[in-house]
Amino acid sequence: MRCTCGTCCFPFLTICKRPSAAITPSTSKLTPRLLTTHDDAPHTPAVQATAKMAASELLPTPRHPAADDDEIKEFHFHTYFFQRNPHSLAAAQHIHAEIQRLNASHRFTARVYRTFNTAPVGPHTIGSFETWVPRESFHAVYDWFLRNRHGLSILVHPLTRFEVRDHTEAAVWMGAAVPLDLAGLTEELEEVPRQYPELGLGYSAKK
Ligand SMILES: [Zn+2]
Repeated sequence: MRCTCGTCCFPFLTICKRPSAAITPSTSKLTPRLLTTHDDAPHTPAVQATAKMAASELLPTPRHPAADDDEIKEFHFHTYFFQRNPHSLAAAQHIHAEIQRLNASHRFTARVYRTFNTAPVGPHTIGSFETWVPRESFHAVYDWFLRNRHGLSILVHPLTRFEVRDHTEAAVWMGAAVPLDLAGLTEELEEVPRQYPELGLGYSAKK
């Protein structure tokens, strides 16, 4: 719900910046009402301070500061399939082969991991395979998956020091989300994991 004061346009749970005016009896109900709506009554500094505190307590606090690297430079695209469904398995095998073909033809740089998982592995609870993508090819690969996933679910997650965050709040799904088993993931690694450094891309690119 948006502010209705007519002088600002702040979304739900943010604080109106309108210049303060005299307090009225109606403002005594302001604080609890901020939990559900943005009040249209005059706001005094004291009420604004209380409101800011109440609102800030409700806003989610990041579990980690921003990644200590200034930019995400490598990603995984995980393709999921039902390993006992022939159609789903065939679609995954087709995508797996196509990525390798397009990589070989320099359409983009994307490396499929050597294992094609026909059973749960790590956080992946159904059949899956991994495609590593450096930021230099991110757009081309993202574009390709959007148009060629054959109904399969694709998890796109960044590679940073924060594995759990990478697979949860920082992750993006194409198609329906597949439950992940996060138990084996590390909350915070000492270093950003690097794959395929010989390519000189992503985190391994020369600065
Ligand atoms: Zn991954």
